[in-house]
Amino acid sequence: MAKFTTVLIPADHYFIPSQEAIMAAKLLMEKYFPDRGDDVKSCTWEKPFFIEGRDAFEEMICPACGETVNRFELESFESASEEENDDDWDEEWWYVFLEKLSESDNPIATQILMPCCNQAVVAENIRFPYDAGFARFKLWLPDPGDSMNVTNEQLANLETTLGCKLIHISEVNS
Ligand SMILES: [Zn+2]
Repeated sequence: MAKFTTVLIPADHYFIPSQEAIMAAKLLMEKYFPDRGDDVKSCTWEKPFFIEGRDAFEEMICPACGETVNRFELESFESASEEENDDDWDEEWWYVFLEKLSESDNPIATQILMPCCNQAVVAENIRFPYDAGFARFKLWLPDPGDSMNVTNEQLANLETTLGCKLIHISEVNS
């Protein structure tokens, strides 16, 4: 069965809320998710870490050419080119990307060779329309209950409490 996690990160890659703010945000999250099956957790990093929604993370926008790179289109490219015995580069691209960032000492500064236009870009400049981003702080709740979403009002309250704009990430692990 798929596992769901509600994740919140600051929109500002470098922002870390105060300890008091984090405690207050955790209390709010407990209130917003009464059916949760786990505790609200938080983590901070020295350098921005790449946080993504696993199965829910599907798209990024190339800063060099503006193309949307979709992981499933890469995979369909793989099967389409299989007969021609094409190289493995495209089919592996998404996984190589994730591995590169997870192994990097400074993920945000990692050079990435984009599959769309073959240009090298810095990871920080890639845009993630949803369910991924770079951050030094993460607030998360595994097994949030009936819904993994926060309402606009709840998000606004959490933003005020933490002192920053937030990005909501739905993490799905199947
Ligand atoms: Zn491109």
